[in-house]
Amino acid sequence: MPLQRLYLDCGGAPLDYLLRLSTRRSTICVQVLPGGEVRVAAPAAAAPAEIEVFLGRHLSWIRSKQEVLRDRLPPAPAVPSGDGTALPLLGRALVLRERLAPGARPAAAREGTELIVRAQTAAQIPALVVGWYREAARHHVSTRVSHFAARVGRSPSRLTIRSQKTRWGSCSGRGTISINWRLMQASGEILDYVVVHELCHLVHRDHSARFWREVARILPDYRRLRAELRSFGRNLAF
Ligand SMILES: [Zn+2]
Repeated sequence: MPLQRLYLDCGGAPLDYLLRLSTRRSTICVQVLPGGEVRVAAPAAAAPAEIEVFLGRHLSWIRSKQEVLRDRLPPAPAVPSGDGTALPLLGRALVLRERLAPGARPAAAREGTELIVRAQTAAQIPALVVGWYREAARHHVSTRVSHFAARVGRSPSRLTIRSQKTRWGSCSGRGTISINWRLMQASGEILDYVVVHELCHLVHRDHSARFWREVARILPDYRRLRAELRSFGRNLAF
């Protein structure tokens, strides 16, 4: 049966959700996906009112799950290829130049506004592009971490650049900050927001009001950046 897009009017912000009715189900269940989308599966015979009562009862669970998962990312598309493709880099475009030659030593290097990728076959290009972005992230992010660590008053014990499938950054109990290399496709200020967010977790581990006050102290405009991060995540190039 097709998905229906519905919403629960629950005072304040309505809850949008996708409903799938199924003859195979005997119970109602709700799931929150990375990005914050709510999916509800229910028995084909379930009355709309019954589903709404169920959602109303689980509303606070759904909202808190959304709070966490809204900042998680949906699966990233494959690396675009083709000579002349524009790749996003810190709010600008980097033009991909593919240089294919049978004996080429695979490598990627930036020259001005171009990313020159030498390879033997086109199939090698995506991994070389990702490798270059990861390396560029290592340099850029460590500079931004040092810059903001001085203002937050805490430094991470270690910084790692990762390829997390579901998140932009994390801060471990041991003080390791991990940042997703894909943020290099965002604007510099969006990337800065994630850096500041994780650094502030060195002060407050939770997402309490005190935590957000600390973020606001460093980035007074953080709400806008957080919203921009969400839409960036939904439109990620690769
Ligand atoms: Zn956080």
